[in-house]
Amino acid sequence: ARTLRIGLIPGDGIGREVIPAGRRVLESLPSSLNLKFSFVDLEAGYDTFQRTGTALPDKTVDTLKKECDGALFGAVSSPSTKVAGYSSPIVALRKKLDLYANVRPVKTTAGSSNGKPIDLVIVRENTEDLYVKEETTRETPEGKVAEAIKRISERASMRISTIAGEIALRRQKIRAAAPATSTRTEPMVTITHKSNVLSQTDGLFRETARRALAAEKFSSVLVEEQIVDSMVYKLFRQPEYYDVIVAPNLYGDILSDGAAALVGSLGLVPSANVGDGFAIGEPCHGSAPDIEGKGIANPIATLRSVALMLEFLGEENAAAKIYTAVDANLDEAKFLSPDMGGKATTQQVLDDVLKRL
Ligand code: NAD
Ligand code: MN
Repeated sequence: ARTLRIGLIPGDGIGREVIPAGRRVLESLPSSLNLKFSFVDLEAGYDTFQRTGTALPDKTVDTLKKECDGALFGAVSSPSTKVAGYSSPIVALRKKLDLYANVRPVKTTAGSSNGKPIDLVIVRENTEDLYVKEETTRETPEGKVAEAIKRISERASMRISTIAGEIALRRQKIRAAAPATSTRTEPMVTITHKSNVLSQTDGLFRETARRALAAEKFSSVLVEEQIVDSMVYKLFRQPEYYDVIVAPNLYGDILSDGAAALVGSLGLVPSANVGDGFAIGEPCHGSAPDIEGKGIANPIATLRSVALMLEFLGEENAAAKIYTAVDANLDEAKFLSPDMGGKATTQQVLDDVLKRL
């Protein structure tokens, strides 16, 4: 049996209610998968900052680097006004572990969709573009002028496009293992850019992505491209058309949040932060102070994040089992949390998913 060591970073608020559910689903996977897990509890977040003066203790980073195969991150609260010394631990973790891809699947199931089923994933480059934060402001006779560097490198564009192609191939395999709702037969990657205006930066992204996806191993992947503004239009008009969308950092950020709005609740949307040989699963929602402590947080975003992490650790079969169980819970709609219009508690939703495993 393979044993995976998983770091658990619940963070703040409902992170502490949904991460234990993620742990339970890993512990409950069928033994036929030959997978074992060990866990290590790790700290990060605003509470940690208030107690220790840092939002991301060195011990958390060191343990992840030295001991862990993957991790689950809940959510952190960010103060609404700037607090000296505080900065987001997940942003720092992405840097320290070189988690260069942010992966956000958006999926409806037959039961939770009011139209055609959506099943797409946005693969966002996570290390460069305008987010290198090299900004300057200067005074001119006409007033202030602020400028920012938009950095696009061949290396980062190559690795994000390669991982997008790999995700497309893997999704095809998972679809085959769990023929639940999808009607798609062919894996597809849509390259998003604005190279008609930004011919050098986005031009380099586009050209490199084209080259990455022309590799022999992606010969079964349909590759197309779309200018980002028309991408937004089509994403909202015809979301069922898409499979994998790959984008530079800023466009990917915007498309990810937009796409999340296509499904019923934030409580359903997972994500993963991925580097070479490491993945952190993370629900897209925040710490939800309005429902904290009530035991009604929807655990599904976390359960899907667990599956997503497993995909990147090479455990596609285990991931497919979790996806199938979650989809069945949503389709049957007997145990839905209040954000989905139901009455079930976090524990009841979890129990229903575990029963289906
Ligand atoms: P939020 O995602 O925490 O909550 C938005 C709304 O969605 C709330 O009404 C909440 O109750 C609901 N919701 C979110 N997750 C849910 C779930 N699993 N089940 C049921 N309902 C759910 O966003 P916010 O209210 O804007 O931010 C709250 C705090 O979280 C802030 O401090 C913010 O900085 C932080 N935040 C953190 C992250 C992160 O850690 N990645 C992301 C967004 C916001
Ligand atoms: Mn964002």
